[in-house]
Amino acid sequence: TTQIRIGIAGYGNLGRGVEAALAQNPDMTLVGVYTRRAPEDVATLSPETPVFPYEELSSNNGEIDVLILCGGSKSDLPVQSPELAARFNIVDSFDTHARIPEHFAAVDAPAREAGTTALISSGWDPGMFSINRIVGEALLPAGDTYTFWGRGLSQGHSDAVRRVPGVAAGVQYTVPSETAIAAVRSGDRPELPTRDKHVRECFVVLEEGADPDTVREAIVTMPDYFEPYNTTVTFITAEELARDHRAMPHGGFVIRSGETGEGNSQVVEYSLTLGSNPEFTASVLVAYARAVHRLSASGQVGAHTVFDVAPGLLSPKSPEQLRKDDL
Ligand code: NDP
Repeated sequence: TTQIRIGIAGYGNLGRGVEAALAQNPDMTLVGVYTRRAPEDVATLSPETPVFPYEELSSNNGEIDVLILCGGSKSDLPVQSPELAARFNIVDSFDTHARIPEHFAAVDAPAREAGTTALISSGWDPGMFSINRIVGEALLPAGDTYTFWGRGLSQGHSDAVRRVPGVAAGVQYTVPSETAIAAVRSGDRPELPTRDKHVRECFVVLEEGADPDTVREAIVTMPDYFEPYNTTVTFITAEELARDHRAMPHGGFVIRSGETGEGNSQVVEYSLTLGSNPEFTASVLVAYARAVHRLSASGQVGAHTVFDVAPGLLSPKSPEQLRKDDL
């Protein structure tokens, strides 16, 4: 059997995670990393991984089956996903929930025109959490769905913080409210406004001369990312950032609480405890790259989300083997 040939577009935390995840999937092989920086400035995990300039993706020479896009959701993917879907099968992890319909449309048109297959907004949220939300809703139509995140470092939101003018470096933690979680698990189905479920904590290193109040205001008022939450901004030094904020743990829960039949309460919970958010997200992207390769082979062009992909397509096992082992 021939291996699925994967390219990585953009090499940050997620790109590194994809490189590592591919090493655990023998049915796939890494063609190389494509970066907008000078290739010699990008230090990959394995010294054998080839690094190419991003411009080499301006044409498709047939060497890549699926390109995994590892750029940031705020500024990279809105440009890169439509552009690259016009030439390659792609997987991305676009996580600005409010803009997913728009992103889907922007990718779907070039993909259909080119006859490529794209999977957008994969990962864990959006991604695995989304699947658990729709399963919960479908199985327990009389109920409520609750999603909690953290405590964890959110890459998408950290990325957004770092792009604010005046910010030299920074991280963002999402912290769920214990009281809110306990109330949901009890089956009480409380009404929880967004602001009561989580707090967003930002730790920011300022650029020299930047005004802290201007930076704080730009962060807490950022639409979609921070405006709907209680957000705190703490200014720290570069040394404190390096010392106290290196790990990238995350996780959370999707809980569906409903009632069936004669008023019996049913609570379904999916939970993730992640030692590394980017490494887990990357593992999800790699499994979906396998699915995209199969969708492409069966002629299913255009944009897709995780809702459109059958679970069996994620596995390296054949359908026959899956029925024997896993059903
Ligand atoms: P990074 O900021 O680490 O990387 C984003 C891009 O920035 C890279 O593709 C790279 O592009 C560039 N870059 C990376 N390091 C440097 C550097 N030292 N100097 C200059 N440029 C650099 O972001 P992450 O990899 O942590 O996250 C990417 C996205 O993944 C997030 O924005 C988020 O939206 C998404 N995500 C989605 C999740 C989900 O569940 N759906 C979960 C977690 C993350 P290049 O190589 O071209 O320079």
